[in-house]
Amino acid sequence: MISILDHISQDKLDKLCEQHYAHVLKPSFSPHIIRDELKKVISIHGYNNPTQVNIVSYILNNFKSIISSKPINLENHISYFKSRGYDKHIEGHINKPFRVALLNAFAYEKFRKWDSAVKLAQGLDLKSCPYCNAQYTLVTKQKSKNKLAFQLDHFYPKSHYPYLSLSFYNLIPCCSVCNNSKSNKPTNMKGSYHPYSRESVSDDFSFCTDNLDVVKAYVKGKTKFSVKINDEEKLSVKAKKHLDDYSIKKLFERHDDIVEEIVWKKFVYVEEYKKQIRTDFGPTLFLNEYDLERFIIGNYTKKEDTHKRPLSKFASDIARDLGLIR
Ligand SMILES: [Zn+2]
Repeated sequence: MISILDHISQDKLDKLCEQHYAHVLKPSFSPHIIRDELKKVISIHGYNNPTQVNIVSYILNNFKSIISSKPINLENHISYFKSRGYDKHIEGHINKPFRVALLNAFAYEKFRKWDSAVKLAQGLDLKSCPYCNAQYTLVTKQKSKNKLAFQLDHFYPKSHYPYLSLSFYNLIPCCSVCNNSKSNKPTNMKGSYHPYSRESVSDDFSFCTDNLDVVKAYVKGKTKFSVKINDEEKLSVKAKKHLDDYSIKKLFERHDDIVEEIVWKKFVYVEEYKKQIRTDFGPTLFLNEYDLERFIIGNYTKKEDTHKRPLSKFASDIARDLGLIR
């Protein structure tokens, strides 16, 4: 739903990625440890599988790129693994010990519990789930310790690509509902929106309600509001897949009460009234038009602020569709 690049520059992301790599190089995460860990498992098999030895060599030779590459280059590693048939030596029941060894060597579970995961999340300053924008993703203080009140999704699932389990651009802060919906389904940038790419599903669809419901509300009072997607049948395959994967429509249908409140506001905040508010409070309370819009709909309306509060895209789309905001 949200592109992280809407509120953070690529330069800042690159710096965060450098910090992440520096952390991974610390003794407990160093490639030497990975080598030692993997050698242990390979030695159990008596070095009978030269491909797995090659996989370990490839990981060690490309360690920095595997940890720090942007998503499209991570997919180059995946393609290389496929072209050499490496993936077949990682997947399946028979390769479980090797797969688990790779995961243990990268020590993702350790990383998840450490301050480094907190630092990464704080650096990203992402306050709501980039997949649904329906839940908060906050770092909270609990008993003087910072805690992540969300999950980290592996865009390229670690069960298929354990060697990408610590890659910076593969770690996506998100809500537990979206993480569970996505599960271990293999994903790629061609078929799915990557929150670290500039492309955003937010630009490709918008919410609306039935105009007839709005008229009914004005004429008859109380009515039930529907939640719709504008021109749903014309959406791209990728956008449809996103809405499907995260059950976006079903999820937002539960928020029809917000649609109702926005319809009320549409009737109350007519242009004359807004003009009066600007005159009375403009210079002190509302520094710009976005502040006034935020006051009226009770949520952020600027694209780069979408992440700051759950349901901001939903509320803005409905308000825009009704002509309440620009
Ligand atoms: Zn979510």
